[in-house]
Amino acid sequence: MPDLTQRSKYADFSITSTAGEARTGELVVGEKKFETPMLFPVINFYGGGRKGSLFGGSTHRTVKELINGDDCVGGVSCSEYFPGSMLSVGSLTDYGISESLLKTYLEKPISERPEFSGFEGLLFVDSGGFKNLSQGGLDGSDFQMELNQHRVFDMQRQLGGDILVNLDLPITEDDTYEERIEKAKTTAENAVEFARHTQSYPCAAYLSVHGYDYSMIDTFFEQVESVFGSLDLTEIFDGIALGSLVPKKDNKSTLIEAISGCKQVMAERGFENHPLHVLGISGKSMPLLVGLGVDSFDSSSYIQAAINGKYYTSFLETERVDDVDLTKCDCPVCSSPLLRERMKGNAEYRKDQMGPVAVHNMIIQQKELSRMRKLIQSGPEAFVDYLGNELGRHRSVGRYAHDVVNKSFGGYDGI
Ligand SMILES: [Zn+2]
Repeated sequence: MPDLTQRSKYADFSITSTAGEARTGELVVGEKKFETPMLFPVINFYGGGRKGSLFGGSTHRTVKELINGDDCVGGVSCSEYFPGSMLSVGSLTDYGISESLLKTYLEKPISERPEFSGFEGLLFVDSGGFKNLSQGGLDGSDFQMELNQHRVFDMQRQLGGDILVNLDLPITEDDTYEERIEKAKTTAENAVEFARHTQSYPCAAYLSVHGYDYSMIDTFFEQVESVFGSLDLTEIFDGIALGSLVPKKDNKSTLIEAISGCKQVMAERGFENHPLHVLGISGKSMPLLVGLGVDSFDSSSYIQAAINGKYYTSFLETERVDDVDLTKCDCPVCSSPLLRERMKGNAEYRKDQMGPVAVHNMIIQQKELSRMRKLIQSGPEAFVDYLGNELGRHRSVGRYAHDVVNKSFGGYDGI
């Protein structure tokens, strides 16, 4: 059994209301507070550039300018819509940077950098497990770095992460049973070292788990338990992060299976009052995941959609940004005549056009999530009505919305 003592609690999660399996809550990490369910927009704080260019990053750069309320975006500040953000250790070398630039990125926590002064939210730093598995580590222009738990934790700490997750080995569909067990064992061993590091670092420590259904997630937990022995995992970890679902993001039946399976496994092991984060899944799946009791997500879909010229006219609908009437939205981005002009293509660089679209898209998602929180607080009827009647009419999510009503609320007659 590893030599671990119970650390002093730095993070606290309290559930404030429930409707079926759906719930609202408050996550407190140190001085920072967060209402759940909540979305962590993925922000590439470091996109290959240097300080003077807000560390570069094309569309990401304009997103950062809008979070800061910089003069170059007309002083429009959208910081309130970024109460948290997700950054992956794996993204640090996305632009093939040199070793000395990596050092610059890591010399000061994000919250202490004047370059990102508008961002005051919670920073979730993912371990980069997916990239590590697919590329064998970090690949710079003049260096290669193998990732191990010790190195990853060091970088998470140097970036100043508030929520951290252990270095994991995501599973794939092609893995054999034996391969999945091996990956679970390695992830579990990493989790022990991670737990040791987080005993003296103030953060919320999340345990990553993997699987597509109850049985796989249950088996994964067994491997973790066998490494931790009789230690109480609910005291060691502040939350659970469910991974490996990104390749399944369009298969909503699998998402529903995986999340209800994970919730069941968590409940059987005393984790029912711990927050559940789903890595890399959000967008139109959010109401389904919220309905099943997911507490947070992360997403880069707001930026991806903008890069493809898509502007959200509602949570479920998009239009080409060139065709849309921007005056119909009252968000801070669309309320600015300067930014409306740029979104219509009167901009020097493409980033100036797509960055504002990205932030508008994020605001639409955050507003819908805020509405979901209010519906949960109003009771099961209101949320079931939203899932069944409102989302039920949309082809892409309708059938699945009904599945969630059945699974989470015991059907329409159950409430
Ligand atoms: Zn807008």
